[in-house]
Amino acid sequence: MSNYKLLTPGPLTTTEAVKREMLKDRCTWDDDYKNVTQVIRKQLLKLAKVDEADYTTVLMQGSGSFVVESVLTTAIGENDKVLILTNGAYGERIVEMAKALKLQHVVYSAPYDEQPSLLEVQSFLKRDRSITHVALVHCETTTGILNPIKEIGEVVHSFNKTFIVDAMSSFGGVPMDLSSLHIDFCISSANKCIQGVPGFGFVIANTRALEKCKGQARSVALDLHSQWEVMKQDGKWRFTSPTHVVAAFAKALEELNEEGGIHARYKRYAYNNQLLRSRLSVLGFKAYISEELQSPIITTFLFPYKEFSFEHFYQEIKNAGFVIYPGKLTDVDTFRIGNIGDIHEEDILALCEIIENYMVVKNNEN
Ligand SMILES: *Cc1c(COP(=O)(O)O)cnc(C)c1O
Repeated sequence: MSNYKLLTPGPLTTTEAVKREMLKDRCTWDDDYKNVTQVIRKQLLKLAKVDEADYTTVLMQGSGSFVVESVLTTAIGENDKVLILTNGAYGERIVEMAKALKLQHVVYSAPYDEQPSLLEVQSFLKRDRSITHVALVHCETTTGILNPIKEIGEVVHSFNKTFIVDAMSSFGGVPMDLSSLHIDFCISSANKCIQGVPGFGFVIANTRALEKCKGQARSVALDLHSQWEVMKQDGKWRFTSPTHVVAAFAKALEELNEEGGIHARYKRYAYNNQLLRSRLSVLGFKAYISEELQSPIITTFLFPYKEFSFEHFYQEIKNAGFVIYPGKLTDVDTFRIGNIGDIHEEDILALCEIIENYMVVKNNEN
């Protein structure tokens, strides 16, 4: 297998030190290991800028989607109803889960290149008094659009509803103060902006909101409340925990701290994203999402000309040492480049040079 750096939004490029942590086997019921889990739980609260008196962290085995499903089945009871806001595939996945779980739900779909309108959200909540929860994705990784969680959180709070945010691809890379955002359940995973490897996700939950969920889940393995009841005691995971992944994650958190915290990481991501967008724009690549709505996580680019072959482009870039991502839109031809992970200015510059050379060769052919 060739060696390349990932320019994908998770799994992503991790540091050597994070990978090295996985060379040791750890015992799940030993105090040292349980303590690693407890330290992680505390540090995540700090990153979310919330108080231990009001919020708690639950780690859950599986990829990010498992954790989203765990929150939905645990937090939304039989007599509840969730308003789901969508403008991309991950929002639509929440709808798919709501259907499978037979949750009462309503959907407000905005176009993929637009944020949901606050007035629409307000009117949904005014019209339908039976809505108890609102769920949305923060950074829609489908396109790279960033949704206005602060403004939506204010609306949700003014109606006194429970607020669920899929912050999978943004938590750790975009500064967030959960309590002032009125988020009750904030979901993310190990292999995104904290820059760990895949294997588990986490929920930063308002403790009072989580306490109310006892016995509500229609699942054993994905019962977030039961997982919390075991984990909060001494850091023991309910079922087999992904020990290597947890150790790598603890290291990744240390490195996030050393980098200067979420603000410093956000600055690196935003700078690299800006650099990528501006360099590629000179080469004729237009971004799908307008600059004001663009997240610093991942960018969707339109094909630069009609005969553009993504497969060929992808292969050439891969041969030169980087892996990029196909598009996820059905109506326009696009591809995506992520810039989260252990990716620095020199990587972006190297990538841009590879793409520049590709375009020079293509222009000479035409
Ligand atoms: C990555 C991601 C998920 C989870 O995807 P998995 O493949 O299950 O890890 C969910 N929501 C968003 C916005 C994501 O970026």
